[in-house]
Amino acid sequence: MTSPDVTRPDQTDSDAVQTQARQPVLPPDQRVGYAVVGLGELTEEQLYPAFSLSGQSRLCALVTGNREKAREQAELLGLKPQDVYDYDHFEELKDRADVQAVFIVLPNSLHREYTERAARIGKHVLCEKPLSVSVADAEAMVAACEATGVLLMTAYRIQYAPHHQAARELIQGGTLGRIKLMTAVDVQTEPNEGQWRLKRDLAGGGSLLDVGLYCLNTTRYLSGEEPCEVFAYTHSTPGDPRFSEVEESVSFTLRFPSGLISSNSCSYGTSKHRSLRVLGEKGNLSLDPAFDYTNLRLMVDTETEVRETLIKETDQFALELDHFSGCILNGETPFTPGEEGLQDQRVMEAIYQSAREGRPVQLERLGGRDLFRGRKPARIERERA
Ligand code: NDP
Repeated sequence: MTSPDVTRPDQTDSDAVQTQARQPVLPPDQRVGYAVVGLGELTEEQLYPAFSLSGQSRLCALVTGNREKAREQAELLGLKPQDVYDYDHFEELKDRADVQAVFIVLPNSLHREYTERAARIGKHVLCEKPLSVSVADAEAMVAACEATGVLLMTAYRIQYAPHHQAARELIQGGTLGRIKLMTAVDVQTEPNEGQWRLKRDLAGGGSLLDVGLYCLNTTRYLSGEEPCEVFAYTHSTPGDPRFSEVEESVSFTLRFPSGLISSNSCSYGTSKHRSLRVLGEKGNLSLDPAFDYTNLRLMVDTETEVRETLIKETDQFALELDHFSGCILNGETPFTPGEEGLQDQRVMEAIYQSAREGRPVQLERLGGRDLFRGRKPARIERERA
């Protein structure tokens, strides 16, 4: 047997360097204008930079419960004091012709209220993950946007990440042969007892809704399939006050109609690890780290070679934003619409039910691929190094 050809990152593999085909960069006045709702960590650290990197989106207004903080941020962002709104005056955005969309970045249980309010004033909605805290809320959000004719997109940045798109192409293009098994892990420490993420009324659940969702959603996205059965365990360390309202860890298995089985783990109680492996008849691939904002690594291991696929990184949040803006400008359904977030909500409810009842839970058996997804993001183009 010949030894596999190993390509290391420091070697130049002319076919391995890829870049995301970006949508055209529009002049500022032709870009889709957004109001960001909720100025917390994600907004400040990831979304403000993403707006500055985007080519089709621009930040026009901020909605907050803390006007003083917002005014300071507005000044740094080149916005005016009148671009800052508090939650009670959200509806005044209706008169802002330059604001076509809102980006909801609030604690999970508030996603429904602000989606419905945005839909009522005719603004498109990009909503952070998880879409909501229940199937009922997610259904109401999808219905509200449908009723008023605005687009709803679940902000699944990872589905716009070039490494994940490359992995999906390899899987669906048959490089690994028929895929049989997947494992995904997304664990971290949630140290802060006062955090809304540990309060049931704001978070809706624990590690599953927050980080386990990446394992679930990525498995569905990479395979294109929908699970037909789930089995799960949850555990919270007895006496740990952080987990008096929400679960610490979840281990869940998904079974798919093709026979694919995916094993997943998420936790708020271990040190950080985020990885994914896909095992097929002819090879396997791994993403490690898999779910971080940067420095993702994609390894492919087949009968003929073992190599790291080098991919130029592009800001995931800017890609996500520009995808939604492109959909608004062209009147198209986003790749991750509300229905995509709703489907994850259905599976997560089944996962909790399985853990509660100690038995497998069946889901509706759905055939076909990408049943809940819209227009594909701009394809990754290969470029020579
Ligand atoms: P933060 O706690 O950092 O910020 C949330 C913001 O929401 C607050 O700063 C506050 O903004 C506003 N808010 C309104 N009501 C409340 C309330 N009752 N309690 C707390 N905050 C409130 O959270 P994140 O920014 O980390 O998360 C926000 C959303 O983004 C969540 O849905 C989360 O799941 C999602 N997220 C997604 C990530 C991704 O990679 N896609 C990563 C991280 C988070 P203000 O002071 O302006 O009113």
